[in-house]
Amino acid sequence: MSVGVTQVPTSARPGGPIGAPHDLGPGTGPLGAAIRQLRDAARSLELPCALFETLARPQQEVTVHFPVMMDDGSVVTLEGHRVQHNLARGPGKGGIRYAPGVDLDEVRALAMWMTWKCALMDIPFGGAKGGVAFDPAERTDHEVERITRAFTHAISHFIGPDTDIPAPDVGTDERTMAWMMDAYARSTGQFAPAVVTGKPLAMGGSHGRASSTSDGLGFITMALLQDLGIEAGKASASIQGFGKVGGGLAAFYEKAGIAVHAVSDRYGAIRNDRGIDIQHLRRHVAQTGSVVGFPGAERTDPADVLAADVTIVVPAAIEGVVTGANATSIRATVLLEGANGPTTPEADEILADRGTLVVPDILANSGGVVVSYFEWVQARQQHRWTEHRVRQDLRERMLRAWEMVRRDAAGRGRTLRESATAIAVGRVADTQRMRGMM
Ligand code: GLU
Repeated sequence: MSVGVTQVPTSARPGGPIGAPHDLGPGTGPLGAAIRQLRDAARSLELPCALFETLARPQQEVTVHFPVMMDDGSVVTLEGHRVQHNLARGPGKGGIRYAPGVDLDEVRALAMWMTWKCALMDIPFGGAKGGVAFDPAERTDHEVERITRAFTHAISHFIGPDTDIPAPDVGTDERTMAWMMDAYARSTGQFAPAVVTGKPLAMGGSHGRASSTSDGLGFITMALLQDLGIEAGKASASIQGFGKVGGGLAAFYEKAGIAVHAVSDRYGAIRNDRGIDIQHLRRHVAQTGSVVGFPGAERTDPADVLAADVTIVVPAAIEGVVTGANATSIRATVLLEGANGPTTPEADEILADRGTLVVPDILANSGGVVVSYFEWVQARQQHRWTEHRVRQDLRERMLRAWEMVRRDAAGRGRTLRESATAIAVGRVADTQRMRGMM
């Protein structure tokens, strides 16, 4: 650290002023949490205050408003965002979220977490995120398609295979990505399959992308059970969220012999302490749209899913669900973050004091963006990898990152989140300095 550089003061309050007259976020909600995590990492890395302030803000962002005609002929004006948090290590990368509560601060937080996730996994991307504020479950397929096309057109100057590459997130899927790729081609006149990842296989998608986030969570689960000396057959789990991530992970667990005792979705929760038959449950969900009413389990309070007496609890839905108010009810040995930002900083402190092992989002759920990177590479090379290769490479990368973070945390006596964030922020800061951007 050179003389005369102001470091991040240890007394600074989260979200409060840190020596510059700028507002660094509201201090609460996902953005407050993300800035607080960054602040902790910046302090431990002794980063200059100015670099912290740069990293606490998005590099660039757009908010768009666009009219879309609904099936009944009415026209609705929607609001969408695309935030590129940091582009020092490569083009922006991150999903597009469709949910009623999407707002700019949430997207900023999610974009920041993508920067750390890509850096931690050592893939050559920066971090980005996007979202449109509406509930896709309340819209017809035709309406969702028109919204997707209009949003893509509105941000088409801001994204691109070498600048910013969207992917699925909450409320979007491979069909959404197919529409985005097509709409981008129409807006720009360029056939550019590498502009989005998470596409259907038939449109240049990658083998293994659909299950990649849950497979990554599964590989980490197996490694950590081994470290804890727990046999898979003796382990149990509960999962909040039964979508792309939670549903896929439940299937992984069933195959590995880990009993899933409780699951929930937006409609309700179910439990069976002898273990839920996941294959049957997935068929039930495909037919009815919800886990509720599944005959092989009883209905329970959604709060019971997080508080279940199991080996591993997996919040796999949205951010901010494990809070200062409910963290003491967590009984699991391990909290594995399938969602982005499910644990608030207050909850993090409580869980650390109680000895719960929290495997942070940027490590645990990074399988999705890792295989997105593989998909992008395949699209650039116009070549398709085998399913075996994708799975092997994903497994290797997940285990390497797990080992690196675990060793760092044990060696320095810090939590897995503190280690993962510090490693990632350190890499971004180094690149930023080498490029002379700071
Ligand atoms: N939405 C996923 C995430 O939060 C994947 C992003 C991507 O593949 O770009 O990590």
